Amino acid sequence: MPQSMQLGDSKAAEIKAVSIGKTFGAFHALKNLSLDIGRGEFLTLLGPSGSGKTTFLMILAGFTAPTTGRLMMDGKDITDVPAEDRSYGMVFQGYALFPHLTVEQNIAFPLKVRGRFSAEIKRRVGEMVERVGLVGHERKLPAKLSGGQQQRVALARALVFEPAVLLLDEPFSALDKNLREMMQEEVKRLHQETGTTFVFVTHDQSEALALSSRVAIFNHGELLQVGRPQDVYERPDNRFVAEFLGEVNLLPLDAVKLDGDRAAGQFEDRTIILNKTTRLDGTSAVAAVRPEHMVITTQPATVDSNAITCRVEGATYFGASTKYHLRTSKGTSLAVSMPTAAIAPIAPQTDVWVSWPMNQGFLLPSGS
Ligand code: ADP
Ligand code: MG
Repeated sequence: MPQSMQLGDSKAAEIKAVSIGKTFGAFHALKNLSLDIGRGEFLTLLGPSGSGKTTFLMILAGFTAPTTGRLMMDGKDITDVPAEDRSYGMVFQGYALFPHLTVEQNIAFPLKVRGRFSAEIKRRVGEMVERVGLVGHERKLPAKLSGGQQQRVALARALVFEPAVLLLDEPFSALDKNLREMMQEEVKRLHQETGTTFVFVTHDQSEALALSSRVAIFNHGELLQVGRPQDVYERPDNRFVAEFLGEVNLLPLDAVKLDGDRAAGQFEDRTIILNKTTRLDGTSAVAAVRPEHMVITTQPATVDSNAITCRVEGATYFGASTKYHLRTSKGTSLAVSMPTAAIAPIAPQTDVWVSWPMNQGFLLPSGS
């Protein structure tokens, strides 16, 4: 890595979106959305297709004006600042490179537009080419590159002018799984090396959890929850967030009582204990437990665990893990995911105990 490479000098920006709304005719694409994006943060906007992620990113970029609300950058109101004056870096899924320009000409383009001297352009482009692993490909046209290489060029072109913010909209969704994982590592490294504020859009929850300092979960134009990956995964605020981030077992509870830092409720013929949550409306709720937090045992659990009896109905082998499908005597179905090596295969119709630590479940409202 050349010593002169000082991308970390770029001034990462802090962004504050305040009560942003966006309507298209009568349709509300974004509803009263407020979000703070920290300086140098890697924030991911995660949600299903049509939830408003791209609309919000376009508002950040300045390509779309919000219908209501304000956008601040480093304390200044930039709501009416046009896109070219915000000068953010951008990488999109189908963001075509200039097909008639070579790799180095594509990367040089933002510097040329900004009227930089040719010696500086040459040096920066050389550094960027090295940084994204394209040495030897400088003179190639985009059509001669693989999909992953093209996205590397797009990343280099978006970062070469040291933007204060980099916006990425599903940049790897067209790549196959292995290549996508390689590019995720690359983006993570570029984020660490540049210190720039990254705002990344994806509908893939594992990509969001793997990359981000924080994840903002969107649904139907609303921001449902924002937090560190482990917070949103282990302490989701509602059922949509819980289920969007991964599989979850839902056990309906009655007679729920809060007791100190714990909650207790009746599931079928047993008392289940969970972490206390403040989100309790009445006395019924749902205990939510991730399949990988449960284990199958032949004995009832220890004092700090919940335990219920179930019958094994089948299993799905995933290589490193195996997912067991089970049912309680009252008919509730459950999934338990365990490392394949952790237990001997269990035959269908076997009666077993399923247990999980009391601090691993979370309460969700029974309605939503
Ligand atoms: P996402 O990126 O999460 O898939 P989008 O932000 O692209 O979602 O779109 C959110 C919703 O807004 C969608 O229902 C989409 O059809 C609608 N929408 C987006 N842009 C426009 C537009 N220019 N005109 C009308 N509707 C739009
Ligand atoms: Mg989109």
